Amino acid sequence: MDDYDYVIVGGGTAGCVLANRLSADARARVLVLEAGPEDRYLWIHIPIGYGKTMFHPVYNWGFYTDPDPGMDGRRVYWPRGRGLGGSSSINGLIYVRGQPDDYDAWARAGNRGWGWRDVLPYFIRSEGNERGASATHGADGPLKCSDIGDRHELIEAIIAGANELGVPRTDDFNGGVQEGVGYYQLFTDHGWRCSTAVGYLKPARSRANLRVETNAHATRVRLENGRATGVEFRQGGEAKRVGARREVILAAGALQSPQLLLLSGIGPASHLREMGVPVAHDLPGVGENLQDHLQLRLIYKCTKPITTNDDLASWWGQLRIGAKWLFQRKGPLAIGINQGGLFTRALPSSATPDIQFHFATLSADLAGAKPHPWSGFTMSVCQLRPTSRGRVRLASTDPTAAPSMQPYYLSTDEDRACALAGMRFARRLAATRALSPYVAEEYRPGPGAQSDDELLAFARAYGATIFHPSGTCRMGHDAMAVVDDALRVRGVRGLRVVDCSIMPTLVSGNTNAPVVMIAEKAADMIARDQAVL
Ligand SMILES: Cc1cc2nc3c(=O)[nH]c(=O)nc-3n(C[C@H](O)[C@H](O)[C@H](O)COP(=O)(O)OP(=O)(O)OC[C@H]3O[C@@H](n4cnc5c(N)ncnc54)[C@H](O)[C@@H]3O)c2cc1C
Repeated sequence: MDDYDYVIVGGGTAGCVLANRLSADARARVLVLEAGPEDRYLWIHIPIGYGKTMFHPVYNWGFYTDPDPGMDGRRVYWPRGRGLGGSSSINGLIYVRGQPDDYDAWARAGNRGWGWRDVLPYFIRSEGNERGASATHGADGPLKCSDIGDRHELIEAIIAGANELGVPRTDDFNGGVQEGVGYYQLFTDHGWRCSTAVGYLKPARSRANLRVETNAHATRVRLENGRATGVEFRQGGEAKRVGARREVILAAGALQSPQLLLLSGIGPASHLREMGVPVAHDLPGVGENLQDHLQLRLIYKCTKPITTNDDLASWWGQLRIGAKWLFQRKGPLAIGINQGGLFTRALPSSATPDIQFHFATLSADLAGAKPHPWSGFTMSVCQLRPTSRGRVRLASTDPTAAPSMQPYYLSTDEDRACALAGMRFARRLAATRALSPYVAEEYRPGPGAQSDDELLAFARAYGATIFHPSGTCRMGHDAMAVVDDALRVRGVRGLRVVDCSIMPTLVSGNTNAPVVMIAEKAADMIARDQAVL
């Protein structure tokens, strides 16, 4: 294969942003290698298809963690998008940026240019908000986001209940003040999902200087004299290679970017030796610092047949919501699953919200599984800034095998305390004047779980990911940092990591918009570095 200026590994959330921004310079030849297929599957594009892609064998990597001692030794299901758009093609579409202090904390840790004031312009540049532009929002960006068209009786009752508990209603979780309760905005455009493959890659696809190879699984970064010179990959059963004149950019996500570094001999020397991988560069932080949001799903039987479970239970209900989407682009088909959100402080020591709720007018045993055959709704709570740390390592030297992933959920006192406080908050909410008339019964954890030990036992038995693994190629300047604040792999020239793995600490919210921001900023840094060469 011909050489390219930039070889981007992973055509996912960050990869599609980079493909667009880097190929905007007509002189730069850009190649994207994506292990999965094109995004030609209708249920990727209709928001409720979230349920269809959650366990899809082609569009989802369908990973499982190692047995986690904090989860009763269970392997926790970790879906990840596979194919153009990556996880932005299968995610829950919820638009949350995090809190200003998340980014200020990155800057305080010595990462220049990553404070809230620095990153806000990139959030704005990326954003195509149907509400229009303001001091904190953008209207013309490629990442379209919209309001949920309808108000739902149950979500209104939740909002009123939260107001009783002192949480104010908000219509914007992203304007700088996160605390509040209200409806989320979604990454949708007139009822269709706006993945980064749709928003960023599609408009750039016809550029002569951009090539996208799908079903192309990168197996190793080629290194010569401490410099990344290209990538080896497998496509259609053939081993191939391509040269990178300027840079190789890993955008394979927080699980597979560290895996690829390890397969290339970049990582903790002791682990590489143990796996029989020749050590090219001893970088002890690769795969460490894994962080995720653990979701605890409290499920309620509803007194009224107004839930999405009811809509989906009959063919005429399905017909009605199908027609609503077809003719108005509204209703349950235009929503992934969750529509209501809440951010508040559960622990007295927290200065800003430390828990987030996702409210769904639907219930199922697992997120994305078949809805229960009764009227039900879900209040899912997660701790926003977990202190438990896990790690990603090689399970095998087969590049197509899943890596070993160990989150060590609930391994600190603080995380256990926050989990308990979050579940107790949910129960107080269910008991409010506004919401209690809708609660027939708490199905899970159920009235049998009252003490701290019983609630923690529920968390360990049923806790699940809310899909935000991050931090495994951490940005920083200390010995355990993997990339510097320009996202260059420390000690290797011509190699960057640009995706969710560079977060030093997980942001307080959902991670899609932050990853898009990271890639937008990286594209500027790459162009700037090129200009000084
Ligand atoms: C089910 C689910 C629901 C979520 N819900 C939300 C939500 O509602 N809101 C929100 O903000 N965030 C949500 N997230 C999280 C968010 O979508 C992710 O954090 C974000 O998309 C990650 O972006 P990324 O670029 O780091 O990785 P990804 O988007 O996962 O991209 C990585 C890409 O690299 C490819 N790849 C991997 N290995 C290789 C290889 N060796 N060679 C070539 N290609 C490779 C993958 O196939 C993939 O396309 C959700 C995630 C999931 C999975």
